[in-house]
Amino acid sequence: MNIILLGPPGAGKGTQARTLVETRKMIQLSTGDMLREARSSGTEMGKVVAAVMDRGGLVTDEIVIGLIREKLEGDKQGGFIFDGFPRTLAQADALAELLAEKSETLDAVIEMRVDDAALVARIAGRSTCGSCGEVYNDTSRPIPADGHCENCGGTEFKRRADDNEESLKVRLMEYYKKTSPLIGYYYAKGQLKSVDGLASMEDVEAEIAAILDA
Ligand code: ADP
Ligand code: ZN
Repeated sequence: MNIILLGPPGAGKGTQARTLVETRKMIQLSTGDMLREARSSGTEMGKVVAAVMDRGGLVTDEIVIGLIREKLEGDKQGGFIFDGFPRTLAQADALAELLAEKSETLDAVIEMRVDDAALVARIAGRSTCGSCGEVYNDTSRPIPADGHCENCGGTEFKRRADDNEESLKVRLMEYYKKTSPLIGYYYAKGQLKSVDGLASMEDVEAEIAAILDA
């Protein structure tokens, strides 16, 4: 089973993807994570994308499609979760082609709906564990007082360079201009399912599970 998690920055795609990896042995394909990895390992491509990412803009379709193409060659286990991809209609078309080439299906596109005010609060207070990637939030889920990650015990936490108000504005604008048309695109194909991204993490998890088990 292959699915797309669709929604604005901060909608909770990464959090839900991590759950699905654990509960269903699916493979999370986050283009954001891949790009961050490329930049921290200092590859040529990483250098090219760093500035674009920090500003909140979209990296070129060519680069992200290339990254996804590579990953589709790997082990698929319980199926792929596309997280943060596709973000443009061109990427959506490319994904359809790549899946067809591998005789793979796209089983659901799950839209996580949230409002902009909630996004700003979520993202502005966001940090992640440096060793396992667990996500924390200053207001809704603070880092434990003893300074240890609840998941792995790690003690280093990171904030993303693009989790600031200025970049967030650009990211939201990019989302509405270039990514939100995908909602109509997948709706028209009969593949769109929507969940309330403002519900508790557990409720969102349950809603997604119900869709996948239907
Ligand atoms: P978020 O969904 O929280 O904004 P991501 O980690 O998915 O964060 O993406 C971070 C940044 O990486 C984006 O703002 C963009 O610059 C780049 N990026 C990630 N995925 C894509 C994509 N599919 N197409 C273009 N750029 C992307
Ligand atoms: Zn951790």
